Amino acid sequence: MDTQFRKDICRRFCRYFKAEKFDDPGCGALAPLLEHISRTGWDELYALEFNPAYPLYAIHGDDPRLVEICEKCSYPPLDCDFRNPEVSNDDCAPCGALCGIAGLISTGRW
Ligand code: SF4
Repeated sequence: MDTQFRKDICRRFCRYFKAEKFDDPGCGALAPLLEHISRTGWDELYALEFNPAYPLYAIHGDDPRLVEICEKCSYPPLDCDFRNPEVSNDDCAPCGALCGIAGLISTGRW
């Protein structure tokens, strides 16, 4: 796992981040975001202004591009409130990597 990513992105944005779990394979959004960064660099991601009130920027949580990513994630539904149908939208948030992808989609950079 890319520790730079975890240090800079997961720790900063992800409510699920656990420093003691660096060996964890990570969420389903991590691999596609890392792959994107490997092609485009970090600047687009760092340019995003994160607002916790709108973690997915202008993108709806049911956007098929995001749903497809979450469907490949090994965490839900038990370990990710965001895709747990028993948790209210007001009481949950997506992981940081999905937020990053949503931000890049919202700016046309994904
Ligand atoms: S929001 Fe939840 S289900 Fe979707 S990729 Fe992130 S951890 Fe996985």
